[in-house]
Amino acid sequence: MYRPRFVHGVIKPASVKDVARVLEIFDDPGLECGLQAVSTGRNWGLGSREPARDHAVTLDLGGLDEVRALDLDKGWAIVEPGVTQGRLAALLSGTSRMLNVTASSAHTSVVGNGLDRGVGLRRQRVDDIVGLEVVLPGGETVHVGWWPEQDRATPVYAHGLGPSLLPLFLQSDLGVVTAAAVRLLPRPEAQRVLRLAFGRDDLAAAVDTMRRWTAQGLVGGVLKVYDLVSAEFYGGRVGEFLAHVCVDGTERSADAVAEVIAEEAVASGLFTEVALADTDAAPDDVVARMVRGAYAGDPGGNDAMLHATVGQPAEHVDDKGLGWLFFLPLVPFDGESVALAHHLLARIHDETGVRAGCTVNALSSDVIDFVVSVKFQRDTDGTERAHRALDRAYELFAEAGFIPYRLDVDHADWVDRLSPDPAARALARRLKGALDPNGAIAPGRYA
Ligand SMILES: Cc1cc2nc3c(=O)[nH]c(=O)nc-3n(C[C@H](O)[C@H](O)[C@H](O)COP(=O)(O)OP(=O)(O)OC[C@H]3O[C@@H](n4cnc5c(N)ncnc54)[C@H](O)[C@@H]3O)c2cc1C
Repeated sequence: MYRPRFVHGVIKPASVKDVARVLEIFDDPGLECGLQAVSTGRNWGLGSREPARDHAVTLDLGGLDEVRALDLDKGWAIVEPGVTQGRLAALLSGTSRMLNVTASSAHTSVVGNGLDRGVGLRRQRVDDIVGLEVVLPGGETVHVGWWPEQDRATPVYAHGLGPSLLPLFLQSDLGVVTAAAVRLLPRPEAQRVLRLAFGRDDLAAAVDTMRRWTAQGLVGGVLKVYDLVSAEFYGGRVGEFLAHVCVDGTERSADAVAEVIAEEAVASGLFTEVALADTDAAPDDVVARMVRGAYAGDPGGNDAMLHATVGQPAEHVDDKGLGWLFFLPLVPFDGESVALAHHLLARIHDETGVRAGCTVNALSSDVIDFVVSVKFQRDTDGTERAHRALDRAYELFAEAGFIPYRLDVDHADWVDRLSPDPAARALARRLKGALDPNGAIAPGRYA
């Protein structure tokens, strides 16, 4: 439910050679439209497959769907853009490795999500990308970061020597990615997930307590806290706040750490429920099921949650069902900041009548991905109010210093406002001018 852009057409290449040929053809000063690459195009909430601006041609890479190589011992896979997280996770099932999966559909792309700096249950997906195969404007193919060599095995290390080129192609309109080298995480021998509920009055203190556990290394993966509204949106059990805390390691260490957290949670007097979410807990709670599976690298429960959220399976999210918007600011991981962020959501509710949900994803003991979601009916009034709430979220959160790490298609122009140094933005534009003088690639959401 973002404004539909004018798209001239869709090109669906079947091979990397096709992609190179297309980039060669578009490297033409006489062509006024550029290419906008998508992997599976399921960037729901941020504009799905819409380009940021009109007059683009969509380069749909969903047909490049090979898992080119898999090394379970060293922990890497080479995957093309059309490879979904469901498919890669299934290949790893029962092995010593697992994929860092997101909470989105199993039918979303490992490469597309990583390139947009998406967030998995284990960490930010960008940390999983150690190398990229990129086709540049003009058609040249380069490998940046780490890439497997035919005749010798080299350690998996993303930075190489000299200036690191890999980050240039994340959230980027400098090249089209045709494959990625993805880190496969060691699978923990044991996993426990604690569910901790708490009330609004204890929000700040509970967040500070959970921060301490995270800073001290007790928590495995991304600690998640759903508020009442987001739990309701995603079809989960509705309480006030519900945290999911993953603990993993060997059987004995996972049990011991889970026990320490549970004891400390009870002793703090802040939590109204402290429970171990074992396999039988909350069988009807689609959020609890998704979280437990996804921490373990299994997105098998994700599509049930998607259906509960927007009322549609993955293939129909964009044409039917409910409207859905995301706003994704970073917030410091401390009780005061999280309470302030919730206060801003209350203000947006007062001003627009829109109740936004929030899920906290702790990316580290210092930074939270504060996922703001808006669910609405796709009628004129519902859509207009939802977008007004989104605009207010950008304004209020940016004013408080809570700046987003991903943008939607309607707020691409915020990239300049949100960047601390205009000279750095000018440098990015100089790089674009040097690498893509004829505008073969359309300006994206971060241009
Ligand atoms: C219920 C629900 C839960 C969700 N949970 C999560 C979550 O936990 N974490 C999360 O991060 N997101 C989440 N999302 C948002 C979204 O669905 C995912 O981020 C999804 O993975 C993005 O779509 P995609 O994988 O098809 O990527 P695409 O839409 O294909 O790609 C995303 C962007 O990356 C760039 N890009 C893609 N491919 C290329 C390429 N080959 N070369 C150059 N640039 C490229 C483009 O800018 C593109 O717009 C959720 C959405 C819903 C509705």
